[in-house]
Amino acid sequence: MLGIILLGPPGAGKGTQAKKIAVEFSIPQISTGDMLREAVKNGTEMGKKAKAFMDAGGLVPDEVVIGIVKDRLQAADCAKGFILDGFPRTIPQAEALDRVTKDLKKEVRTVLSLEVDEKELMERLCGRRTCTGCGAMYHVTFNRPKADGKCDKCGTSLIQRDDDKEDTIKARLVNYKKMTEPLLQYYKGTGKIRTVMATGDIGAIYANIAKLLR
Ligand code: ADP
Ligand code: AMP
Repeated sequence: MLGIILLGPPGAGKGTQAKKIAVEFSIPQISTGDMLREAVKNGTEMGKKAKAFMDAGGLVPDEVVIGIVKDRLQAADCAKGFILDGFPRTIPQAEALDRVTKDLKKEVRTVLSLEVDEKELMERLCGRRTCTGCGAMYHVTFNRPKADGKCDKCGTSLIQRDDDKEDTIKARLVNYKKMTEPLLQYYKGTGKIRTVMATGDIGAIYANIAKLLR
């Protein structure tokens, strides 16, 4: 069972690296952010509840995200493993995950902590562009698409996320420090945490991650 948690501040490259891990190891990327954005887009009850928190750069209430992850982990494609991207983000979420994995007889094997200088995070998030078709991630300077504004993989238009605006990013970084950073301490005691320097070439960072996982 290859259960992986990707920890790190907004912009650390969790989504970018999760997609690469998913391809090589044939396990699904479970991004609570992606699932919440989909719920907002579809106007579901959960989406309506989550939207105001997301727009403000805050965290969606624990019970909402815990429910999403609990359901998702029961899907057939999680039989061999899973990559949690953006979850857990609070101590109560981590405690709930411990209970859920135990109940489902699943296991988190490795917690990858992606480390990036705080200065660089703002630059990365301001320039992030996402494909509305396949979810591929780009950056206007660091990871440019071949044709401006179009996805290399599927040709669909790229968009800037609503919460990738300077003021919202600042709020997200403050919330990360306050609510999510304590998870590093939480997982230190488990012996499962591996630190990855996540600055520099995306392929080189992935090579280090893959080595740790193999
Ligand atoms: P997260 O999922 O942790 O919020 P993303 O994977 O969405 O982070 O990456 C944030 C932005 O930074 C994206 O625009 C992405 O293309 C870019 N990025 C990811 N990894 C790197 C890297 N090693 N160097 C420079 N930019 C990167
Ligand atoms: P992300 O795509 O991971 O950057 O998440 C985007 C937004 O979704 C966050 O700023 C939060 O508002 C919300 N969100 C995603 N995951 C969680 C989580 N585990 N707990 C609470 N809120 C979350």
